[in-house]
Amino acid sequence: MIKINHDDLIFLPLGGSGEIGMNANLYHYKGRWLMIDLGISFPDDTMPGVDVVLPDLRFIEERAENLEAIILTHAHEDHFGAIPYLWERLQVPVYGTAFTLALLRRKLAEARLDVHIPMHEIDYNIDYNFGPFSIELVSMTHSIPDPAALILRTPEGVVFHTGDWKFDATPMLGEDADKARLRALGDEGVMALIGDSTNAMVAGHTPSEAVACAGLTKVIAEAENMVAVTCFASNVARIESIITAASANNRSVCVAGRALNRTISAAKEVGYLRDIPDFVSESDASLIPRENLVVICTGSQGESRAAMARIANGMHEQISLNAGDTVIFSSRKIPGNEQAIGRVQDALLRGRVHLITDEEADVHVSGHPSRDELTEMYSLIRPKIAIPVHGTARHLLAHAELAENCQVAQTLIPENGDVVKFNAGKAEIEGQAHTGLLTHEGGEIVDLQSDFLRVRRRMLWNGTVTISVVLSGAGHLLMAPQISQSGLCSDQQEDDFIADASLAVEDALVQHSEQPKRDNRTYEQIVTGAVRSLAKQRFRLRPTVHAHILQASDEELRA
Ligand SMILES: [Zn+2]
Repeated sequence: MIKINHDDLIFLPLGGSGEIGMNANLYHYKGRWLMIDLGISFPDDTMPGVDVVLPDLRFIEERAENLEAIILTHAHEDHFGAIPYLWERLQVPVYGTAFTLALLRRKLAEARLDVHIPMHEIDYNIDYNFGPFSIELVSMTHSIPDPAALILRTPEGVVFHTGDWKFDATPMLGEDADKARLRALGDEGVMALIGDSTNAMVAGHTPSEAVACAGLTKVIAEAENMVAVTCFASNVARIESIITAASANNRSVCVAGRALNRTISAAKEVGYLRDIPDFVSESDASLIPRENLVVICTGSQGESRAAMARIANGMHEQISLNAGDTVIFSSRKIPGNEQAIGRVQDALLRGRVHLITDEEADVHVSGHPSRDELTEMYSLIRPKIAIPVHGTARHLLAHAELAENCQVAQTLIPENGDVVKFNAGKAEIEGQAHTGLLTHEGGEIVDLQSDFLRVRRRMLWNGTVTISVVLSGAGHLLMAPQISQSGLCSDQQEDDFIADASLAVEDALVQHSEQPKRDNRTYEQIVTGAVRSLAKQRFRLRPTVHAHILQASDEELRA
């Protein structure tokens, strides 16, 4: 039981601390809560058949009547992707900048959710009151339009929550982060900075989007035939860079993939991408001379159903690649996606396509601050406390050490569930709130530790065995056990295994026949136990074993 006093100012991450992804942060003051971001994460190889990973919000669901709102810092999946799945459990208004809400509305429409989520656009440099919190957004730069940092003002002190950010003097879209506002905030006095650690181990300054634009222009200038470029679908500045690079080389642009079209429509709605040449439709792409065409595709992470993978495998209805064409991956590899990306790139290379990634040319820049930008941020904000979030342990530690070198008096590295209390200008961990991982299966939210997902993992790695046994009332076998297996052993090994398992089951039942307990549950345990120990001894595997016990009474047998 965590004791939270009415007047405590508290920061509590339910996701995103100690990991990259699934950001979900809570703030508490005067008995009221505020949630900043509600993102998803992606499954790893311990989660077979799982598409999406969601934070367990039980802690705040139990206090939902005290939750004021959800404020979104930007429209990346790891910051807003869980809204369609989990909003219904909280039912509070959602606030964000113009592009963030424009993209969220499109995602909700595509998900065909039967819920109406109240959404309110908020803008930079305006004070908004959410219960006891006064909130102001600061304009930042990132790899998506309209990212915001948050200033939370309370009588206990000012907290600056950075969201994802970088400094970029030439961002292609919008302007650089509002450094004047950041410096003024530093002058006002900031108790704590809670911020992005993604690139805390990267030296120097993250290159500008203009570098990616120049790199793309150069690569496209050198290309002789068709060019296809894949990038993160939500990166509107990159889309603009690709269009600029194509125009500079007298090429028309075609857009392939639903997520890109969704982003472009949201960007146009809020005022971006309005002065660009018309796109060539996918159906007209074949009418354009190949040396005059650039195709922008979804699928930079190797997603099998996205445009890039389908084009690479010759499965796209309208767009095909020839030997001598050029494909540019204008993106980084998100850890965990290396194999999927490798499969797509291998298919391209087999087709003798020129493959250009960020290793061969300056065709991608990060959206997160490297060490020089973090140092500059600390010189602007000058907080008393630094709390690194958005990163694994090594990112958070590197960020904390950097903050200490910037003369920040206290650093605190939180883990998901840590209740961080601010008291007299100091931060301390007061206790632990429940955290966990959920997923979405068959239209329902389920715990990743739930039994059926545990069984699925075991079946995937160990196979299954099914046994049917027919017994007399006295517990004697009336016919040979029927046994089948899948995924435990090869077809060649199967006959031997089934014969031996059959004998093992018979032996176990004979040994038990003197015992008084003769119910189905007991027989089930005897049968499954015999098969499990044989499988373990023979294959060193622990298969999922199902036993069906059919027991006939003596009267039934006589009849
Ligand atoms: Zn982001």
